[in-house]
Amino acid sequence: MSTPMSGPRLSACLPLLLTLLLTACASAPQSPAAQVPRGTETVHANVPLLAPAVAYAAEAETAPPAPPTPTELPPPPLIPDPAATPTPRPVGTAPRVGLQVGHLHSNELPDEMAQLRTSAGAHWGNVSEASLNLDIANRVKPLLEAQGVSVELLPATVPPGYDADAFVALHSDGSNGGSAHGWKLATPWRASEASKQLFGAMAGTYGGVTGMPEDVGGVTFNMKGYYAFNFRRYDYAIARTTPAIIVEMGFMTSAVDRAMLFNQPDRVARGLAEGIMAYLRQRDPANGAALLPPEYPALQAATGGATVRAAPRDNARVLARVSADARLMPFDKQNGYYQVFVHSGKLSTVGWVREDQVVNTSEQSTFPTPASQ
Ligand SMILES: [Zn+2]
Repeated sequence: MSTPMSGPRLSACLPLLLTLLLTACASAPQSPAAQVPRGTETVHANVPLLAPAVAYAAEAETAPPAPPTPTELPPPPLIPDPAATPTPRPVGTAPRVGLQVGHLHSNELPDEMAQLRTSAGAHWGNVSEASLNLDIANRVKPLLEAQGVSVELLPATVPPGYDADAFVALHSDGSNGGSAHGWKLATPWRASEASKQLFGAMAGTYGGVTGMPEDVGGVTFNMKGYYAFNFRRYDYAIARTTPAIIVEMGFMTSAVDRAMLFNQPDRVARGLAEGIMAYLRQRDPANGAALLPPEYPALQAATGGATVRAAPRDNARVLARVSADARLMPFDKQNGYYQVFVHSGKLSTVGWVREDQVVNTSEQSTFPTPASQ
């Protein structure tokens, strides 16, 4: 146990947007005494964060070497261009999958993540989230190994620049209300095509195998901003080219979900293993460009302001209208629209804005990240 949650959904720190840097946590520590009705969720909690998969060309750059002349010294070795297409693994290499056991040994997180050390996650009775996550991970591992996959179980601390064919963070939810149930997935904010494919593969198997419903609309900013995804901010994070998702397997606080998580853990593990295997079978291991997360400039609304819509269409529902000082952090692009995290005054939401209603800024994009997870 650690910090009591101040929000209705322990894993969904989204409702806590305005305090997210202070209290948020993706699978929140839970206090049975902290009774907060789900009805207190803000409108932001219901904003769907997940975008439909969209293909876009990753930009690859190769600096042309200067032609050497006989009198010149050999040029210094080229520093790898961060935008260059990653080199695929050699043919025949066993796929490597990292299963992160959410909250395991979180007290050992490095100094750069000291604020997350007290994050114990959810619990039910005397069963901690970490112990449940570990039990499931231990069941997934042999299923993948039987398919020729090299599997590493990782604690809360991810090795710096962790490189794998797939990184799957396993978490379980908690809710003070007890009525929340179901699973949900998220990719990082700026997801590579490979991360989106991993997401799609897991979404296509987990619910079917377990029979559990999706917690639609439950994905939070803090899931997408999961600390282990955040290679821009932390050393102890996955490599930018590692395809990644976070899985909230179900709610420990839901009797319906416990019937699966506690009583049929092998089925839960099979749902996860089949999702990972589906991804590894679908992907093109030679497609290095698919591993690159997209890069976008930071944006602000143009002089006339911008309309934030629920979908990348001119007739989609309007979520908000923002003025020219609104900061917009894009993480996807489709049909001439950017999908953005919007922060303007008290407004924090996700939606789509038309390309011609925004201008570039020189500021760095800053997405919400959890202070506890
Ligand atoms: Zn958790």
